[in-house]
Amino acid sequence: MEMSNALNPKRTVAELKVLRALTSDENGAQRVAFTPTWTQARAWLREKLAALPVEIHTDAAGNLWSTLHGDSDRALLIGGHIDSVPNGGWLDGSLNLLAGVEILRRIHAQYAGKPPVTIRLVDWADEEGARFGKSLFGSSACSGNLNLDEARGLKDKDGVGLPDVLKEVGMDFERVKESGVELKKAAAYLELHIEQGPVLLDLGKPLGVVLGTCGVERHALTFLGQAAHSGSTPMNRRRDAFLAAAKMSPEIYRIAGRHGGVCTIGSCTTRPGIVTSVVEECRITLDQRHLDAAALARMLKEAKDASDQFAQEGNVRVDWNRLWQIEPVLFHEHLVALCDEAIVETCGTSHRMPSGPLHDAAEVARAGVPTEMMFVQSLHGISHNKIEDTKEEHLELCVTAFDKLAEKTMKWIQSAE
Ligand SMILES: [Zn+2]
Repeated sequence: MEMSNALNPKRTVAELKVLRALTSDENGAQRVAFTPTWTQARAWLREKLAALPVEIHTDAAGNLWSTLHGDSDRALLIGGHIDSVPNGGWLDGSLNLLAGVEILRRIHAQYAGKPPVTIRLVDWADEEGARFGKSLFGSSACSGNLNLDEARGLKDKDGVGLPDVLKEVGMDFERVKESGVELKKAAAYLELHIEQGPVLLDLGKPLGVVLGTCGVERHALTFLGQAAHSGSTPMNRRRDAFLAAAKMSPEIYRIAGRHGGVCTIGSCTTRPGIVTSVVEECRITLDQRHLDAAALARMLKEAKDASDQFAQEGNVRVDWNRLWQIEPVLFHEHLVALCDEAIVETCGTSHRMPSGPLHDAAEVARAGVPTEMMFVQSLHGISHNKIEDTKEEHLELCVTAFDKLAEKTMKWIQSAE
C-alpha cells in the first residue's frame, strides 16, 4: 500500500503536539472561544484542511464546516471543538477534530477525492462555555435547542454581553439558529472524545463505546431552622438546619449505590455562618445524573423523601428549587453496535458506558441525527486541567478505531440510500 493512502495516526499525535505548542502556556491550553488564541487555532486548522479539496465555511453560529463532497449529498458528520477552558488540557475537543482531519485525508486518498457519501468535519463554536457559563453554544444553536432569550442576557465576568462578543467576530446573535440548515443532509454524526473520567483506566481498556449522555437533575435545597446561641441552647432544643442538610451527604451515596447513577452535593452555605450560632439556614446543591430517565426520576424522588424525613427529624423545613434539568440522550442503536465492532477489531476488547458530561453529540442527537461517540482512556481520569493526558499508543488506537467506525458508518449510510 502506498503510504499516502493509509491512515497515519502518528501524524494526528504530532499535530496535537504542534497545536499544544502554539496555543498553550505553562498553565495549559488557552483556546477560549472567541479570543485571539482561539482564532489562531482555527486559522491553523484551516491551513491543515487547505491541503484537501474541501469546501470550508463558517455558519451563522460560528461553527466551522469542512465538506468533502461525495457521490451522494447525504453526509457523514464528524465533530469536535478546538476551544478549551482556560488552563485546559491538550486533548479535550481537539483530539476529535484532528482525528477527523486524518480520516478526511484517508477517505480522500482511498476514494480518489470522491467518496460514496459526503463527509463533513465540524468544529463547534464555544463548546466549553468558559466565558459565559453556557456550554454547547454552537451545537445547541444548530440543533435548535438554544434558548435565545436566556442566551441574549448572558454576560462574562467583565459584564460584556454574548451578543456583543459575537458581533466583534462578525456574527449576528439574532441569526445564530440559522445554522440549523447545516444538518439538513446529515445522515449520521460521530464524535471521538477523551473520557474525562477514570472508568476505562480502572478497567484497563483503551477504548469505550458511548451509549448516550446522562440526564441531569440539578437542584438547590434550603433547610430552614432557627439561629440560637451556641452556649445557652441545649442539644435537644435545637432546630439545626446544618444537621438535616448534612444527613443528605451519606444518603446520596446510598441512592447512587442503589441505582447506579452519580449524585453530587457540590456546595454548602450556612447562615448566619458564625462560630457561636446554631445554623438557621443551610443551602446545598444536588446534581444527579443517570442514563435511564426512570432511574433518574427515582433517584430524585428518593432524595426528596430523604430530605423531608431529615427535616422532620430535626424540626426544620426544607425547600427545593430546580436549577436545571436535561433528559438523557440515547445514541443510535445501530451506530453503537458499529462502534463496538470497530473497537473490538482494533484492540480486541470494548466497554459500553454512558457519558456523564454533556457533549455536542447530545445536541446533534436531539436534533434527530443518528449519533454515536467513542471514548479513549484518560490518564489520571482528569480533564479541564493541564495534566489531562492519554498514552500515545492509546491515541493512535483511537484514531484507527474511529476511522473504522467512520468507514462502517459511511457504508451504512450508503446502504440506506
Ligand atoms: Zn470536549
